[in-house]
Amino acid sequence: MNIQQNISLKPFNTFGIDVAANAFAEVFSKQELQIALQYFNQHPQALLIIGGGSNMLFTQDFDGLVLKNSLRGIDIVKQDGDKVFIKVAAGENWHQFVLWCIEKNFAGVENLSLIPGCVGATPMQNIGAYGVELKDVFNELEAIEIATGISRTFCNEDCHFGYRESVFKKEFKDQFIITSVTFKLHNLNVSEQYIYHIDYGDIKAELAENSVFELNIKAVSDAVIKIRSSKLPDPKELGNSGSFFKNPVISKEQFALLLQSNPLIPSYNTSEGKTKVPAGWLIEQCGWKGKRVGNTGAHAKQALVLVNYGNAKGSEVKELAAAIQQSVKEKFGIEIEAEVNIY
Ligand code: FAD
Ligand code: NAP
Repeated sequence: MNIQQNISLKPFNTFGIDVAANAFAEVFSKQELQIALQYFNQHPQALLIIGGGSNMLFTQDFDGLVLKNSLRGIDIVKQDGDKVFIKVAAGENWHQFVLWCIEKNFAGVENLSLIPGCVGATPMQNIGAYGVELKDVFNELEAIEIATGISRTFCNEDCHFGYRESVFKKEFKDQFIITSVTFKLHNLNVSEQYIYHIDYGDIKAELAENSVFELNIKAVSDAVIKIRSSKLPDPKELGNSGSFFKNPVISKEQFALLLQSNPLIPSYNTSEGKTKVPAGWLIEQCGWKGKRVGNTGAHAKQALVLVNYGNAKGSEVKELAAAIQQSVKEKFGIEIEAEVNIY
């Protein structure tokens, strides 16, 4: 394992922000990870684990050690009736894993197709899309505690998964390195009794458009890929970190008041008896959709996605985000919170 000094992080974050890390190493095995942690303990400094860098915004150079997690391996560890348990190393690419599941006829992750990044980061914010969240297919994960180097297993309850949240973004923030995630999927080779999630967004319409009359996981994945590709900027062409903000969840009373002055406001009931309002709509109503400010802006097809038009500095994106938050607060009285991890 090679520890490099003063390395640009531009190729390692999908926003394409050009900052430098004091020290940088890519780890391909748990052994290399332990060696890197020994180095870290001998040279105490800030530590950042990076997967695909698709959920981060760098606003300054990183004064510390960046570890790129490139642990590899996908193993079927258990079969139990129509359930299959698959242990996936943290550095595996998430979408490639989804495609692997579809090829094997394992159901559960098809709605989460085309989400960038690595498997190890998926529990961090309990990734979600089109009505499915990671917690629905999660069995357990293994993580190394940074302070002690000791390995620990976390089951579903231990992770305190919430809406784009987990214990790793809160109480255990920056304390663990996730090394593998084990998924519990439905094995369609054993039983075809499986409930598809197609009520969300445009999935049904897309399936009809593709003349899919008999549901299958490949068709659902293809539909999700097509919808996403038509709407979301490809980070290879336009730097971004996906949705910059979370959708705010407000009380029914606050929503009733908002509805009086905004009769067209979209909303969704949550299982906690609250109301979720799409942040993209709020931002659009404030006039930000497609608006460019210097080298950054809110995407023309989805205002929730902030983009880098070329040479944006992270601080410019952060300033734009603050201006958007301010205008949403003034117009709707709602505080929208960043989903992206800001450094
Ligand atoms: P990174 O950005 O590298 O890291 C994210 C955070 O996790 C950082 O704090 C990092 O330190 C930490 N971390 C990473 N790996 C580990 C590890 N092994 N152990 C401990 N900590 C770790 N998200 C969704 O939920 N749903 C979507 O539909 C979605 N769509 C997106 C579309 C686009 C175009 C983009 C650019 C992003 C999208 N995202 C979405 C956000 C992002 O892809 C996910 O959050 C993804 O899981 C991040 O993975 P990553 O490997 O890139 O994480
Ligand atoms: P969309 O379909 O235009 O919908 C806008 C918002 O409304 C979404 O954020 C979604 O909330 C909510 N929504 C839509 N239909 C819903 C339903 N039936 N029940 C409950 N909530 C509903 O959204 P989009 O921007 O094209 O994204 C599609 C999906 O991909 C969403 O699930 C979104 O979260 C996910 N996505 C996430 C990121 C990210 O970086 N986090 C980036 C791109 C796309 P939810 O976000 O809570 O699902």
